[in-house]
This record gives sequence, C-alpha cells and structure tokens, in this order.
Amino acid sequence: MPKAILFDLDQTLLDRNTSLIKFVEWQVNFFQLVPQQNKQDFIARFIELDNNGNVWKDLVYSQLLEDFNIKSFNVETLLESYVNDFNKFSSSFERVPETIQNLYNKGYKLGLVSNGKSPFQENNFYALGINEFFSTIIVSEAIGIRKPDRRIFEYACKELGYIPNECIFVGDNPKADIEGAHKAGMKTIFFHPDPSICSPLPDKKINHYDQLETAINKLESFIL
Ligand SMILES: [Mg+2]
Repeated sequence: MPKAILFDLDQTLLDRNTSLIKFVEWQVNFFQLVPQQNKQDFIARFIELDNNGNVWKDLVYSQLLEDFNIKSFNVETLLESYVNDFNKFSSSFERVPETIQNLYNKGYKLGLVSNGKSPFQENNFYALGINEFFSTIIVSEAIGIRKPDRRIFEYACKELGYIPNECIFVGDNPKADIEGAHKAGMKTIFFHPDPSICSPLPDKKINHYDQLETAINKLESFIL
C-alpha cells in the first residue's frame, strides 16, 4: 500500500474556475464596479486576464480598471478584497471531502503541494473544510521552491516521513504536477473534470473523485 498521497490545490481539490466566477460576480456587485449590462463582460475579461491563475491580480485589476474606465476604486482596494475574500467562495470538486476522509480513514498520510502566494493559498485550502485530514501543507512562496522543481516534492514527502517512490501525486497540470512529481520519483495521477483532456506522462488518469481510490489501488502493486 502506498504510504502517502499528495495533492495539488487549484483545479485539483479546489474547483478554482467555478469558485473564481462566483467570487468575481460577488465583487462586481459588492463594489458596484460596472453597470448591470457590463457585468458579464467584466467577469469574462477577468477570467481571460487571470489566465488560469498564472497572472497575479495586481496586473488583472490594473487592466480591468483601464478597460472599464473605473475611477472610483484603485488596484489596492480590489486586490485586498481578492486576497481576503476569494476563500469565501472556495469550493471543492464533487466528492472531494468524502474521498479525502476515506483515504485518511484507510491510513494514508495526506499532503498538499501548491504553487502560489502564502497565506493566500493556505486560506483557500482551509475553506474546503478538509484540513484536519492533511499532515502537511506546502505553498511554494513559503518555502521558495515552485513545482515542477523536484525539490518541492522531495521536501513534501520528507515532511510526511516517506521517500518519493512510496508516494502518489494527484494534480491537473501536466508540467508542474505530473512531470515534476514523476521526476522526483513519485507515481502520478492526472485529474481533469473533462475526460477528453489528456496528459502524456501520468501513471493513471481520472476525471471524477469517484475514480480516485480505484486508481490508487491499481498503483499499489507497483509500490513496495
Ligand atoms: Mg492545479
């Protein structure tokens, strides 16, 4: 049986796309940023500029204020709200809480390895309500190493008390998660809610958390 299972956060445990749309809807309403008729355009432009979380929100807001000619708020106010309020909209993919609790009850050590800002990412994770089942939470900014650097995976495994080939990594990013964890010597499971999306390297692929325990069981025979 594998000793430990490590997870990415954004678009793996956390349904970031859905959570982000809900947050931006709230923010545009709360601050009354644009008239009703422009709200959907504002949300769509935010999602576009965010580029799947690859652009930090100071640049996103700066461009939005310019594009929508917003004068009554500055970047700092909206960025502060993003940092403080996004986690209130943070929600997991279907069956994540049940699956995580099952794995914990079966005796797996669980860990989180996320690229991003600290404590922003930790707060987004805490809001999912599964923190009590995790033994280690690692956010790249806090330790100064980012995925796909193998050292962040090695560090995480060590924190859990195991070596990488006793561990499985579950993530949605082919390079940062799958290639990085594979190079560190871990088994990998690629998660994407759309079954047509593939990644070339993973040992297993799932599109729903109902499939995770089966995928883990199949990998068990390869792990001593
Ligand atoms: Mg991700």
